Amino acid sequence: MTDYHSPEARAAVALPPGLDEVRVRFAPSPTGSLHIGGARLVMYNVLFAHGQAKRAGKKGAFILRIEDTDQKRFVEGSAQGLMDGLTWLGLGWDEGPDLGGPYAPYVQSERQHHYREAAEQLLASGHAYRCFCTPERLQGVRDDQVKRNLPPGYDRHCRDLSVEQVQAKLDAGETFVVRITFPLEGETRFIDLLRGEIVFRNDKIEDLVLLKSDGYPTYHLAVVVDDHEMDITHVTRGPEWIPTAPIHVQLYKALGYEMPIFAHMPLILSPSGGKLSKRDGSAALADFRERGYLPEALLNYLALLGWSLDGKTEFFTMDDLLEHFTIERVSAAPSTFDRDKLDWLNQQWINHHITVDDLAARVLPFLIEAGTIDDGPRDATHPRFQEVLVASSLLKDRIRHLTEAPDLMSYFLRDELEPYEAAMLVPKKVEPEAALAMLVAVRDALPGIDLTSHDATEARLRGLAGELGVKAGQLFMPIRVAVTGRTQSPGLFDTLAAIGQDRVRDRLDHAIALLSSEAPA
Ligand code: GLU
Repeated sequence: MTDYHSPEARAAVALPPGLDEVRVRFAPSPTGSLHIGGARLVMYNVLFAHGQAKRAGKKGAFILRIEDTDQKRFVEGSAQGLMDGLTWLGLGWDEGPDLGGPYAPYVQSERQHHYREAAEQLLASGHAYRCFCTPERLQGVRDDQVKRNLPPGYDRHCRDLSVEQVQAKLDAGETFVVRITFPLEGETRFIDLLRGEIVFRNDKIEDLVLLKSDGYPTYHLAVVVDDHEMDITHVTRGPEWIPTAPIHVQLYKALGYEMPIFAHMPLILSPSGGKLSKRDGSAALADFRERGYLPEALLNYLALLGWSLDGKTEFFTMDDLLEHFTIERVSAAPSTFDRDKLDWLNQQWINHHITVDDLAARVLPFLIEAGTIDDGPRDATHPRFQEVLVASSLLKDRIRHLTEAPDLMSYFLRDELEPYEAAMLVPKKVEPEAALAMLVAVRDALPGIDLTSHDATEARLRGLAGELGVKAGQLFMPIRVAVTGRTQSPGLFDTLAAIGQDRVRDRLDHAIALLSSEAPA
């Protein structure tokens, strides 16, 4: 047997000779919010179709298809939400429900006749049969299996009904589902791009439902019909579909379709084991956006989760990934979600990989949401954008998440400071009276200081420390607390310049009043 685990062998499976176009798809069911596992799958598809395939001189297309045939689980707005999420991540599609395309429509509920025709074809060729079992009977079968410790599954009760028996039931108006006539003997095999050959014993596989009694297809029928009709070359999806892949393989054969290449991608596990879920803080893409992650950092992180270029490079832009990604290097083993690593990457991205202008534009909506600045245009035309820009330039190397901006920037952008303790104004080894005297001296000197000049401000304040007979650091500390309400801030002179004469004076006055009430002179 070929060793499918060598990178060369996998590469040959990924892009077989003779294939001139890669067509991949993401086929979410609109049943909730987009999970980051789904986002990573989309990223793999885009990188494969637009990066790897194109580098190999092939055409590539990524298709978005909405699989909404499970009406019971349908959630209104979910398809739009996931498209918005992907757009935020910068992952676009070439064909899809909104864009249309040569294989439209891209929504399964609008493609019903394709599935019914396929079901008719399967019934006619004996690869499917009508099952008239009532829910009560099926429940009875299940209860019995549980009691006898047997594996659950349909007992093929209707598989051998005669043509006449079927007709009689149809004439009597009995409802039915259509099930696959799965082979009872032998094996079903297929090659998985990441996992090599996968073999199933046919007698272990159930005659699953293909068409429900409401006439809607199940996933198994719809996915095969659509992947075929949309000329999908590589079916990439989560590993949870491996157990039912034999159903799909048999359907491809029965319908006379050419088999695509299957690639069951790895799972993302939670640090506590099991599938990553809401319990781990966050699994939905929208949560990462709300929590102040940059889409670039999240993509960078998702790319590193289960794939690596050389075992050491950590920073990848989407362009880098398009240049280097190969699907066969994705590990089939699940990877564990590591929030610390993501947080670190996010901070690196904010601190070193985006411009100040860009940071200002990105924090603006967070500042508006938090009420730090008034509502207004969410771009550079906001009347206070210049101030946000200055605050961004001073805080760029401190921000780890965009959500921190309202707090970190508040003393630049709001007139009122958050309340703080008078004791914070008093440096170590300094008496409250001395701290008060320093603040009074600074306030008195303020009108003569040009705060817009970093050098002049520094010279004057250092001079003042000399006059007061204290160390510069001892003087700077109460000033910093007075103007920011905190013990840490960007450089003092830049901070004073950004806050401006009037607000600096008001805040010094306030600090003096606060300290006087604590330490009457
Ligand atoms: N609709 C399926 C899901 O949401 C798609 C699986 C596939 O990609 O084939 O899981």
